[in-house]
Amino acid sequence: MKTRDRLRIAVQKSGRLADASQQLLAQCGFRFRQSRDKLFCFGETHAVDLLLVRDDDIPGLIAEGTCDLGFVGRNVLAEQRLAQVAEAGSSALCEVRALGFGGCRLAIAVPQEEPWVGPEQLQGRKIATSYPALLANYLRENRVQADIVVLSGSVEIAPKLGKAEVICDLVSSGATLAANQLKETAVILKSEAVLAAADLDFVDERAPVLDLLLRRLDGVMAVRE
Ligand code: ATP
Ligand code: ZN
Repeated sequence: MKTRDRLRIAVQKSGRLADASQQLLAQCGFRFRQSRDKLFCFGETHAVDLLLVRDDDIPGLIAEGTCDLGFVGRNVLAEQRLAQVAEAGSSALCEVRALGFGGCRLAIAVPQEEPWVGPEQLQGRKIATSYPALLANYLRENRVQADIVVLSGSVEIAPKLGKAEVICDLVSSGATLAANQLKETAVILKSEAVLAAADLDFVDERAPVLDLLLRRLDGVMAVRE
């Protein structure tokens, strides 16, 4: 295992989780100075630095050891964990804490006029998603065979484009589904932002900083509840 004297956390650069991640760290008493290129934040109060990246890159950065921790949606972490297990037989990625923001659900949505009887009605259908591993797991658990169409974005317009009749996508208010004449049915995963890691058995200076971070996170979360 690599040794380092500063803890490195990957957080989303911009997007739904970006502000809340930095606010949470600020509430924990950690202050940072941002680099001119806005990709790195140097910890001024503690030996903790931030890497500002796309959320999809966070599990990989942790798995390869570039970062020790990350603030990322459970949906992204679980999907990439399953993909690693499929490819390599195992994954060290794990969820250390749930962080209480970025709440959403990964759900199956069908055309509004289609009654929902259960997962069996997905048999033989085309389902568009950005989460093929989580969807495949759900289908397997329900003994359903379907055709997974992988799309990296704008999954909700797949039915209009004729790419699939059904989708499996992230939902929070449901407004996007309604705007596309779709309705939410089965929930595959309840998600929120989580603290992700791979290996936390530090033998170097990162150990006391990690302890402090976890204690402060737990303190902040307890007050928020
Ligand atoms: P990036 O540019 O970092 O790749 P992105 O466009 O993939 O960003 P965002 O849309 O910012 O990602 O979403 C980040 C996370 O926010 C999601 O992975 C999910 O955990 C959470 N989230 C909460 N509500 C929603 C929602 N309604 N739709 C999508 N994601 C949501
Ligand atoms: Zn992303």
